[in-house]
Parts: sequence; C-alpha cells; structure tokens
Amino acid sequence: MICDSHAHLNHGNAFGNDREEVLERAREAGVGCILNVATRPDDAAATVEVARRHPQVLAAVGIHPHEAVLATPAALDDLERLSADPMVVAWGEIGLDYHYMNAPRDVQCAAFASQLERAAACNLPVSVHNRDSDRDLLDLITRHAGPRRGVVHCFTSDWTMATACLDAGFFLSFSGILTFPSAESLRDVARRAPAQRLLVETDSPYLAPVPHRGARNEPARVVDVLDLLAELRGVSAAEMAVITSENFRTLFGQLTDSSNSRAGA
Ligand SMILES: [Zn+2]
Ligand SMILES: [Zn+2]
Repeated sequence: MICDSHAHLNHGNAFGNDREEVLERAREAGVGCILNVATRPDDAAATVEVARRHPQVLAAVGIHPHEAVLATPAALDDLERLSADPMVVAWGEIGLDYHYMNAPRDVQCAAFASQLERAAACNLPVSVHNRDSDRDLLDLITRHAGPRRGVVHCFTSDWTMATACLDAGFFLSFSGILTFPSAESLRDVARRAPAQRLLVETDSPYLAPVPHRGARNEPARVVDVLDLLAELRGVSAAEMAVITSENFRTLFGQLTDSSNSRAGA
C-alpha cells in the first residue's frame, strides 16, 4: 500500500470529468490511501464529500496562503464544523507563500497562525505549504503548532530548514520535484532525513514527476516519487512503501483503503 499524502482532487475542473478513472488508476498502481486537500472555504465541503464516497480517500480542510484574505473567523468556524467529520484527518492546506505573494505578508501570517491554533483546538495535524518563507514559517509553527504537529508538504528547502522542521516535530513530504534534474540538493535532504519522518505525495494536479512533467498529475504517479526515494535511500520500493505508509498512519492517525475499516477515526 502506497499513500499519496497530498492531492487536490477537487481543484477547479482538473478532475471534474474523470475522477473515478483517476482513482481507479491509483488503486491499480497500489495507491491505497490519498489525502484530498482543500484550499478554499468553498471547496472544503466537496473535498470531504469525495472522501466520504471513496474508501481510499481521506480529507483535509483549510485555507491556502494564496487565499489568506478568505480566512475570516466565520470561514474558520465553518471549517471547524466540517473538520468534525471522521473523514477529516488534517487541517490544510495552510502556510506561507512569499514567491507568488498573492496575499500580503501580514495577512498570510495571521491566517496561518489562526489556522494552526484551530487545528490544535480540533486536535488535528496540519498540512503546511512553504515557498520562499522559511524564517516566518519556522517562527509560526514553533509558536502556534499543536501537539499533533504536521507535515511540510512538497518540501523544497535546504538541509538547514529540514533539520529545523524535524526539530519542530514535523514530517517532510516529497513530491515530483524530487525527480527534477535540478533538484540535487533536495535529493540530498531526502537521503539524510530520518526514515520515520518521510512522506510522499503528488500535489495533483500539479508537479507531475519526470517523465510526465508538464502534464496533469494524478495520485497513481506518486509511485515515481516513491521509487526514486527508495533508490536514494538504498531500500526496495516495497520497503519504502511500508515506511511511508506507517508514517502516514502515525501522523494522520489512520489509513484507509478498501481492506481497512475507517473505525477509530
Ligand atoms: Zn502547496
Ligand atoms: Zn497543495
């Protein structure tokens, strides 16, 4: 069983026409567990609904830093109510993005801090986005993350940032970027990080791995990330699947696939 720790199956119209086929291809590829991650208040309910209808899908609800202006107290109250659903195992996607800077820095920091606190209040781990914002991100997770901590999804920072995130109790999730020819320093992080903190993801529909780069990504392709991570660490793909699935279970509290009940959520 392989776990895709971060995908957006409700992103715009990306999977509007063929979500069932995409999930079937994931199953055939051995991807038995997918965390479907919301990014806005108005896609959260649909994100949870996909998890309710598909046994291999779990959900996260939250407001992405690009949409930080939408993180009003009323919107967060709605997400908190939604997060009581047993299919919701994380709060996300939240974080900071100073590359695109689609919302002002202070608005992003306030939305991130308040969502870290909501997640803690709901006893949920967080799925965190970070782009060109290492310093503020570390500061905010250190001060506001709850005891369940979380994962820095699509990790792309250097080893110094990796050790700081690990010291803060966070997992590191690797995406298709790991396969990009220019990503040698990221492959170095993937070689050195402790096995019990590794996750893999697609960030579908974004970030298709080599050789699919530029195409719409889908959860079945997490296998390419897993294969490379296994190779970098000198273990078999089967072993790496076990390691990352156990880590998924440790962080999110459960696994779900057609052979596992969702009991204990
Ligand atoms: Zn992200
Ligand atoms: Zn994402």
